[in-house]
Amino acid sequence: MIAIENIRKEFPILNRTVNGKPLVYFDNAATSQTPQPVIDAIVDYYQNYNANIHRGVHTLSQEATDKYEEARIKIQKHFNAANSYEIIFTSGTTDSINLVANGFTSLLNEGNEIIVSALEHHSNIVPWQMLCERTGALLKVIPMTQEGVLDMEAYKSLLSDKTKLVFCNHVSNALGTINPIKDIITLAHGVNAAVLIDGAQAAPHIKADVQALDVDFYVASAHKMCGPTGQGMLYGKETWLKKLPPYQGGGEMIAEVTFEKTTYADLPHKFEAGTPNICGGIAFGAAIDYMNNIGFDVIAAYEHELLEYATEKLLAIEGLRIYGPKDTTQKAAVISFNIEGIHPYDMGVILDKLGIAVRTGHHCAQPIMNFFCIPGTVRASFAFYNTKEEIDILVAGVERAANMLR
Ligand code: PMP
Repeated sequence: MIAIENIRKEFPILNRTVNGKPLVYFDNAATSQTPQPVIDAIVDYYQNYNANIHRGVHTLSQEATDKYEEARIKIQKHFNAANSYEIIFTSGTTDSINLVANGFTSLLNEGNEIIVSALEHHSNIVPWQMLCERTGALLKVIPMTQEGVLDMEAYKSLLSDKTKLVFCNHVSNALGTINPIKDIITLAHGVNAAVLIDGAQAAPHIKADVQALDVDFYVASAHKMCGPTGQGMLYGKETWLKKLPPYQGGGEMIAEVTFEKTTYADLPHKFEAGTPNICGGIAFGAAIDYMNNIGFDVIAAYEHELLEYATEKLLAIEGLRIYGPKDTTQKAAVISFNIEGIHPYDMGVILDKLGIAVRTGHHCAQPIMNFFCIPGTVRASFAFYNTKEEIDILVAGVERAANMLR
């Protein structure tokens, strides 16, 4: 059982009002809110040991280095990576994907194929299109059904010995669909293709085990899991990280520099050029601790309860359609909906006046909106600090807005 009252007390922002109403925050899929222990970790860093890391002999630098590397180990343990040097700190999911896409430039040729799913965020589409432009490789798309579920038979028929790489999200940010990533990975490995899983939306709800999944790359952002913005991670299998060239050149990522030739540092530093977001990395570790202290099983069960409750209540509203799987066990706590004849933006503006934060638009997933022939959706996404009472406020707000706009 989740101790919801205690948990809510740990999120100071949940006490504020918006437009004179108590904030109801349902934009968790865009970014999550930050609990006090994570805020404390950020303040502690700047108040007590702010210093540049690695190679510093002075105490502050060593303390900052230790905390930063401890955070890497927390992330390693959380995702069950075999080695801490397989965790690369990045500025977020987008950065992690670009790092891998850039690295594959020297590994792909004309005639090679790479496969993306129809359910992707733009950040798991555009870097691969750019890779295709650089290499002449061909981008193929796993189609989805009307329920927003990937067509696995079509996926099987796309795989061949030309396939070098498959990338897919674990959970769709636009529809909430949980994708069958274990099957996607196993099938890709059957043709010796590498797999990158975008875990940005899954990481706040599901504890992924990269070794059990046997995934080649897994990426996530701290700001969706109670951590700070501008911070993310890339897990890569050691063999792949050794094969890929560095992403950026600069300080920290070198072994030796002369004007004739530079040699690169070992993992993970080879991919971490320049001064990183030191505080961000440490706060990411604190966020992972925070969520694990509550427990991902507890979080997932409670969020599922919220999802079922909200789905039933919203579907009772006349003309309301939810996009994505009907079976809520195939979904994370994301509800993407429209009401017939009402533009999602208008709905979002009225809900904001009522203190309710939802996201409206294409959710950086225009191909999904094109598939459903809609300009966008209203998306309510839930976190473990939300309540059924807040869902009642949303449902009443949606009804009120619908009456005003119809
Ligand atoms: N992939 C998915 C599925 C996402 O939901 C997001 C964030 N909306 C991203 C990638 C990009 O994450 P970031 O903006 O943190 O780099």
